[in-house]
Amino acid sequence: MQTYNQLLLSNKVWAKEKVYDDPEFFKRLADVQHPEFLWIGCSDSRVPANEITDTQPGEIFVHRNVANLVVNTDVNLLAVLDYAVNSLKVKHVIVCGHYGCGGVKAALTNHDLSPMLNVWLRNIKDVYRIHRTELDAITDTEQKTDRMVELNVQEQVFNLAKTAIIQRAWKHRQGPHLHGWVYGLKDGLIKPVFEMPAGTHIDELYEYDDL
Ligand SMILES: [Zn+2]
Repeated sequence: MQTYNQLLLSNKVWAKEKVYDDPEFFKRLADVQHPEFLWIGCSDSRVPANEITDTQPGEIFVHRNVANLVVNTDVNLLAVLDYAVNSLKVKHVIVCGHYGCGGVKAALTNHDLSPMLNVWLRNIKDVYRIHRTELDAITDTEQKTDRMVELNVQEQVFNLAKTAIIQRAWKHRQGPHLHGWVYGLKDGLIKPVFEMPAGTHIDELYEYDDL
C-alpha cells in the first residue's frame, strides 16, 4: 500500500473514534470556530501545534513557516494575523520556535543554499546582527544555536508588535497578549522565553500615533 493511503485510512479511524467519544464533535466544529490562540510556529514536522499542547481541533489557529518568522512583507502571515486578531479576536498570539531548528542552524552558516532559502533565512541573520555581542561570546555551537533560537523568537514577537494590526488591537481592545516560546525536541517541553502583554511600548520609531 502507498504510504499516503495509510494517512487516509488513519483519518477514517480517527474520525470514527472522535464521534464515538463525542457524537456532537464535528457538528459543533462545522458551525463555527472560536480559537483563543494564534500559533506561529516552525514548519518542522516534529513540532505540531495541537499535539504538543494537547489541544483539539478548533482551539488553535495556526500559521507555520520555516523558523517561525514574522516578516513584515509576508502577505500570507499578515493575512493570517489580520484574520486571527480582527475577526477571531484571539486573546493570545504565540510564536513558538524549537531548539535544534534547521532553519536557524542553516542561517548561522555561510552556505549558498538556494535563492529562496537565502532570501528567507537572511531574516535570521539580521536577528544575529542585533544580538551579535552576546552570540559571538558563545563558543559552543549547540549552545549558540539554542540561544539564537530563543532570540529569534523574541525578535519575531517584536516584529508582531511593530505591525499596525497588533498596535490597533492593543489600542481598541487591550489584546492580544504576545508570547515567545521554545519547544525542546529532546524532552517535549515548552519553555516560555519572552512575553509582551497588550499595550507594551516598543521603540517609538515603530509606534503609530494615529491609529
Ligand atoms: Zn525549525
